[in-house]
Amino acid sequence: MISIQGKGVSTGVAMGPLYYYQRAKSVIRRITVVDTAAEWDRFKAAQKKAIEQLGELYEKALKEAGEEAAFLFETHQMMAEDDDYVEAIEGLIKEEQLNAEAAVTDTAAQFADMFAQMEDTYMQARAADVKDVSGRIIGILTGVVQGGIDSPVPVILAADDLAPSETVQLDKSKILAFVTEGGSGSSHTAILARTMGIPAIIGVGDQLKPEYEGRDCIVDGATGTVILDADEATKAVMMAKREEQLKRQKLLEQLKGQPNVTRDGQSIKVFCNIGNPEDVPVVLSNDGGGVGLFRSEFLYLNCSDYPSEDYQFEAYKKVLSDMGGKEVVIRTLDIGADKQIDYFEMPEEENPALGNRALRICLNRPEIFKTQLRALYRASAFGKLGIMFPMVTSVWEVKEAKKMCEQVKKELTAEGKPFADDVQIGIMIETPAAAVMSDRLAKLVDFFSCGTNDLTQYTLACDRQNNDLGRFFNPHHPAVLRLLKMVCDNAHKNGVWVGICGELGADLELTETFLSIGIDELSVSPRSVLPLRQKIRETTVGDVKEKILADLFSDEVTL
Ligand code: PEP
Ligand code: MG
Repeated sequence: MISIQGKGVSTGVAMGPLYYYQRAKSVIRRITVVDTAAEWDRFKAAQKKAIEQLGELYEKALKEAGEEAAFLFETHQMMAEDDDYVEAIEGLIKEEQLNAEAAVTDTAAQFADMFAQMEDTYMQARAADVKDVSGRIIGILTGVVQGGIDSPVPVILAADDLAPSETVQLDKSKILAFVTEGGSGSSHTAILARTMGIPAIIGVGDQLKPEYEGRDCIVDGATGTVILDADEATKAVMMAKREEQLKRQKLLEQLKGQPNVTRDGQSIKVFCNIGNPEDVPVVLSNDGGGVGLFRSEFLYLNCSDYPSEDYQFEAYKKVLSDMGGKEVVIRTLDIGADKQIDYFEMPEEENPALGNRALRICLNRPEIFKTQLRALYRASAFGKLGIMFPMVTSVWEVKEAKKMCEQVKKELTAEGKPFADDVQIGIMIETPAAAVMSDRLAKLVDFFSCGTNDLTQYTLACDRQNNDLGRFFNPHHPAVLRLLKMVCDNAHKNGVWVGICGELGADLELTETFLSIGIDELSVSPRSVLPLRQKIRETTVGDVKEKILADLFSDEVTL
């Protein structure tokens, strides 16, 4: 048995023979052309054909994987027509007298290098796109067609890397999973795999060898593990995992489009937690009603220096527009504690979880906070935005943060930059202080979102990072649940809605409790949406509420 570790970018378990992607290699001729006008026409004809093919791929992707995936081919069409790109090719053909395929090859290498050297990981991933578009044009010029899967049975497809158009053109009924040597989580191939619900693992490097082709393979997209020739015990564990996955799949189909409403008519919103704009397709494919928590610090964690206002604006705008008008709650920067970023140059702390983190950093370093708020407000023009502040303990912090919002709005108005006038402002309730003071805090905001990961840590004085605490770290602890009830009551008295965005929100053992105390929204990982919907739809709150509340507030102790 061989076990190989990569990075899982699309969850799910798949089992089958390993197959290496056959890529047809074009040999590029390099010649000096005399009739440069005719060579230019040759390029223009190939470019036109490539654009037509991309239009067909757009339609195919739209049918198979939805709008987000299809959008890529529009981007490719634009790339094929991009002025700088086409001018570079024209220069090589007309001035250097290079033949068209060599001119496209050189231009592709130059543009791919330029993208690869950019700091922005999203732009880096575009290097693969420019190579992909150019490969298509070269294929047309040379008459070489890309390879596919020559296997009678479905396979686990391995490749050095897969260009998005290669991924889309493949016969999906033949693919159980993708495994690539290289790749990035924000590459479109990863996006496509997630959207199509195909397990995928990237970055296995040279551990996976072409000579393994044909051997029995298991892929676990959740853990990023590839297993070859698994022993019986491992196979059994993986089969059980796959069974679970298939059950979930069935659920997905039945429950899509159904409301999150209990048997006795109580509704609750089920939203999703995301970490980057590329997670939106999976929110939509799992029928998430909105985004309840976008952990914006992942944008900062992915950069080697402070992300600019424009960079952030593009990311937030993408989430808001891709969500098509559904609510999106973006949490302002929450670093510190377990999420450290070198370029912030924060001094070392004895107790980082109780130290300078989240809103505390933002209030102490207003230039960072302001950049983010400007990007958020500018993006608000593209959807339905809620801005949420993490790690609040006091009323003054919220007042100061809101003041900064007002200042930003004033500036944007003066600059003539549009923003929505219905942006909701909320706070996370993740400290006992915020829960206890929620009656006052509710007067300042539109919503509360309970971060039960931290609320449990701070209420029980238990480090959430410390696995050795075992039974002492108990998110079901009545102290945590009583605080949640108090927060709900204070919120509702003040016309404020309240959600849960910590991991506890997806805990089906507590769904009845959350419904009983009146939680309005649960924000969970996209794949938890449908199991949660099922649980909600099976519940009759009237049957359980009284007992749940009586037990929660009982002073009885069983001896
Ligand atoms: C939480 O604390 O519950 C929460 C959602 O925030 P994070 O896990 O990012 O700290
Ligand atoms: Mg938290």
